Amino acid sequence: MAAKTKSILSELKISRRTFAKLTALGAAATLGGYATSKKFTGKLFEKVAAQPTPELYSSTKRVKSICSFCSVGCGYIGVVEDGVFTKMDAWETHPINLGGMCSKGASMANVTNSPRRLKYPMEKVGGKWKRISWEEALDKVSNQLSSIRNSYGPDSVFFCGLVHGSNEEAYMLRKFAMLFGTNNVDHQARICHSTTVAGLLSTFGHGAMTSTVIALQHAKCHFFFGSNAAEAHPVMMQKILDAKDRGAKIVVADPRLTRTAAKADLFVRFRPGSDIAFIYGLINIILENGWQDQEFIDNRTYGFEYVKEAVKDYTPEVVERITGTPAGQLREVARMISENRPSNVIWSMGVTQHSVGSQIVRACAILSCILGNQGQWGGGCIPARGHDNVQGVTDMCVLSHFLPGYYGVTAESSWKWYAQCFSDTPSTSGKITFDELKARFDTYNGESMMTKIGFAVSRWYEGVLKPEAEIDQPRNIKAAVFWGEATSSVTEMKKEKDAMEKLDLIVIVDPFPTSASAMPNRSDGIILLPAATRQEGTGSVTTTGREWQWRDAVISPMYESRSDMWIMQQLADRLGFGEHYDYKSIEDVTREINLACRPIGLQGQTPERMKLQKEYDYTFDPWDGRAKGGPCDGQYWGLPWPCWTTDHPGTPVLYCDKAPVTEGGHDFRARWTYPADEPNAGENIVRGNLPPASTGGSIHWTYAYGTDATGEVNRQALAEGNPPTGRGRAMLRVAGWTDQVPRHREPIESPDPALVAMYPTYEDKKMYRVLTEFKTEQQRSVAEKRHEKYPFVLTTGRQVEHHGGGAQTRNADYLAEIQPEMYVEINPTVANYIGAKHWDYVWVESARGRCRVRANVTKRVDERTLFMPYHWAGVFEGVDYGDRYPEGTEELARGDSCNIITSPGYDEQTQMQETKVALCNVYKA
Ligand code: SF4
Repeated sequence: MAAKTKSILSELKISRRTFAKLTALGAAATLGGYATSKKFTGKLFEKVAAQPTPELYSSTKRVKSICSFCSVGCGYIGVVEDGVFTKMDAWETHPINLGGMCSKGASMANVTNSPRRLKYPMEKVGGKWKRISWEEALDKVSNQLSSIRNSYGPDSVFFCGLVHGSNEEAYMLRKFAMLFGTNNVDHQARICHSTTVAGLLSTFGHGAMTSTVIALQHAKCHFFFGSNAAEAHPVMMQKILDAKDRGAKIVVADPRLTRTAAKADLFVRFRPGSDIAFIYGLINIILENGWQDQEFIDNRTYGFEYVKEAVKDYTPEVVERITGTPAGQLREVARMISENRPSNVIWSMGVTQHSVGSQIVRACAILSCILGNQGQWGGGCIPARGHDNVQGVTDMCVLSHFLPGYYGVTAESSWKWYAQCFSDTPSTSGKITFDELKARFDTYNGESMMTKIGFAVSRWYEGVLKPEAEIDQPRNIKAAVFWGEATSSVTEMKKEKDAMEKLDLIVIVDPFPTSASAMPNRSDGIILLPAATRQEGTGSVTTTGREWQWRDAVISPMYESRSDMWIMQQLADRLGFGEHYDYKSIEDVTREINLACRPIGLQGQTPERMKLQKEYDYTFDPWDGRAKGGPCDGQYWGLPWPCWTTDHPGTPVLYCDKAPVTEGGHDFRARWTYPADEPNAGENIVRGNLPPASTGGSIHWTYAYGTDATGEVNRQALAEGNPPTGRGRAMLRVAGWTDQVPRHREPIESPDPALVAMYPTYEDKKMYRVLTEFKTEQQRSVAEKRHEKYPFVLTTGRQVEHHGGGAQTRNADYLAEIQPEMYVEINPTVANYIGAKHWDYVWVESARGRCRVRANVTKRVDERTLFMPYHWAGVFEGVDYGDRYPEGTEELARGDSCNIITSPGYDEQTQMQETKVALCNVYKA
């Protein structure tokens, strides 16, 4: 080993110091992975490229592909022997994971080959599952959808899903709903990171992670706030642990002592739901001590005075009363994140899933600006997304309030643009005018439903259950299509179950039947369409860091399963808009995305560029993600959006105004709702010298890039040294929101009525077609004294072994063996009090229902908090539904779903569900 190391060092001319630095990057990675270090350029690339890849057997194929279990975007090599996906090898030159994977990711072959997959289309008839042909299944689905559409209007169908799909398949599904004539289409991102999108978009201009996972390595301090990366994003955590070895600090604030917290330099607990008070306490201390970056604040933000005023009320002592965190510990956190800059703030659903989720995200964004961390390598805001392509599916806007690329559904101009794109795209033969597109939608109260925001996935069932007079659409929802979506992810599951029993038709498109096939107690009206797994499909996927990667199919679809693209094409044909789906290849869809999605710069991620990057992966430096030499020279791995032209290298760090835009530089967007009370606000929120223009109630100082199909406007902007989105300031104050700067508001179910009186939630509000009871529900909780009946606060989260709703991982025998049963974490004092021993069965109960689960007795939670993982289904309030699945497809590991008992709270901006705070009780079963 020593001799080998020496020869590599001398060949690469790497100094001993550089080598020490590089090897410290990741103990888990191989030396081969680091052979693409900064010094590894020019001829050496060619030399390595010329090395033949050893094939062990002539019938063996090795396919570079991308993990389908989380958005870190790790690469692996699928080994195919005689057409069978037999095992996985390390893709050592993949710049993100350098060959390393977590236990979940390492199960790709196991999941693909699961004998419990849905093997052919099926229908539930007379209480029995019956095999049917594809022809019959597609005819039945399309005939019934047509009939429901004709009888009740297009809004009577709800399309849900595709969080695992490629960008292309996600784009096709949103287009499908548009041509069907409804905005009742939504997906998992609504209940994962919709509040991240709302909070960051309104503050900075884009609703996404401001860095890449690769760029994270440059931080001096990683502040985990509501993220348990060690279990949710293990390979990202590996990079952060490597950074720790190089001297970076890790700070964790969390209600639980998570596995991430176990690695922290500083860990503090706080009460679930008191997040804004915690962050404001930090800002209060930072300003008190003069630790802020005043130059950044003065030059690059708008509204600092409003924040300064607001945080005065959040002294460490006040914050201690709200959060339970001792004032001294809060000061320590403030000191550590201030003294070690650039620091970032990393969050997942610990931040997002609250009734004030959008405002917690804004508070985090404001903190990052106060410390001057935005636009810095390693600094910024790091919302780590969950599913493998949830960032991409969000960008393709399988959402009821946006069209692909974040064009708002309420503006007719968005629909005019898409009518033009659907007609002009060379990828399909279809033509449609704006008026023809509009005619596909219903009218209601004299207005077209085309520009009305649809139901959110978190509350779609209200469209079924509520009287028609109480919903903002002509008729109730009669059919639901669950496309790769686990219904167990949605809170208020009992209502969802009721709705599923009331529908005329349920269609499930998935590689597994999923618990949705078993949850409703019905004897017919469910059709199952077997979709291919991600390992059997091709297309682009986007990492949490906005990087586009081309994922190749490892094998062809097994059994009778079909790709999502094929299924959609077949249904579109039968529903009468097949001419808009006659793509010859998945690459044709990518090109239509390149044409249409302009606000976030998806022009440069062509199929050809992504495939070339994959081929020349070893030319990319894992330290900054940039190609050094070779045909991709200068490009960043994954061409992170915005990537404005086919010459652009991608933007690894958003809002970095130090680099030229042509080299990945960027700035805050300059298009905002005008704060009417400030006559000169324009001057304060814009840095560039573009003339203002007005569109749909907002003012912008940007180029007219959003509807320029030629790309000329983007090129002009770059030539003038500007991002097409202009040069604005970060909006610390957001005009038009109920709280223009964040303020603490108690959760809908609070354990402390005194705090509810001081910090009440919002007024009730109708949004996403249905009334949301904020204040009424909070007051109901207080009046019913739920804090006494249910004295514990339940919070939920991930397990490293399972994924999403668990349909795939609970069917993978290795993972099901490691993590076979649902549990609740309870503190030993509580366990003693209720007389439960470790792994006894207990009931966890809330005002919504109860779950029978194992007691995982641990000090990870304190004496007031319970924790449950959310991947479980197949059991409902203690009743095993195993015999309701098609024979032989019931999940290996089944358990009660925590969402039977989680809170009825929703975010005031996005309808995100409040899964992180619910009042519960626990007792021995
Ligand atoms: S689940 Fe995430 S961290 Fe694990 S291997 Fe897959 S992409 Fe990497």
